[in-house]
Amino acid sequence: MFGPPGVGKGTHSRRLAAEIGVPHVSTGELLRKSIQEGSELGRIAEEYVGRGELVSDDLMVQILETRLDQPDAKEGYLLDGFPRTIPQAQVLHAKLREADKRMDAVLSLDAPVEVLVGRLAGRATCRQCQATYNHALYPPKQTGVCDLCGGVLLQRVDDAEKTVRRRIEEYQAKTRPILDFFRQEHWPVQLVSSVGEIEEIYKRLKNAVDAGAN
Ligand code: AMP
Repeated sequence: MFGPPGVGKGTHSRRLAAEIGVPHVSTGELLRKSIQEGSELGRIAEEYVGRGELVSDDLMVQILETRLDQPDAKEGYLLDGFPRTIPQAQVLHAKLREADKRMDAVLSLDAPVEVLVGRLAGRATCRQCQATYNHALYPPKQTGVCDLCGGVLLQRVDDAEKTVRRRIEEYQAKTRPILDFFRQEHWPVQLVSSVGEIEEIYKRLKNAVDAGAN
């Protein structure tokens, strides 16, 4: 799942992964977990994440490899938030080749910048399971409480408007160019609009996945 911050990658990936029956592997979630746990890795990553900047490729690749080595990822996975730079894409490409595997689909979600900023400004994230809500668009049943696990809902530090704009700049400069790399390498990129109602967007994604599978 590919796209700028606020485009809905996390929300849709979570649901799609559960439907397909593969683990949802979000590098942002893995980082937030290590930060919460106060691990060595979390301490290194915290400053970058807080400023809305990308964490180094070496660290990210290490984190991703450790996750993909888990038994539940052997038959497939849905990547959310990786790759985010050309070097990360190159590493992933080489690893897939080495294992004689391929990506079934690259779902590239997009929406205008002001839509992204607006969505993130109203976003609340569960401290425990990381499910996301939006005060205006899809609020939780009980204010401040996660519908799924009962955890506390908070605004992510990097969802403050200034940091959101920095994250979008990072995306434009370092992540968007990966789409050309994917195309050069004949990865099955599908462009999906993330403007509209959440159900409608999810339907578009499902159609794109089904079209790719045929
Ligand atoms: P996300 O939850 O995907 O919005 O990611 C939150 C933050 O984690 C990003 O703004 C980056 O600071 C960091 N991050 C997540 N994935 C990556 C990645 N693949 N490469 C570098 N930094 C990442």
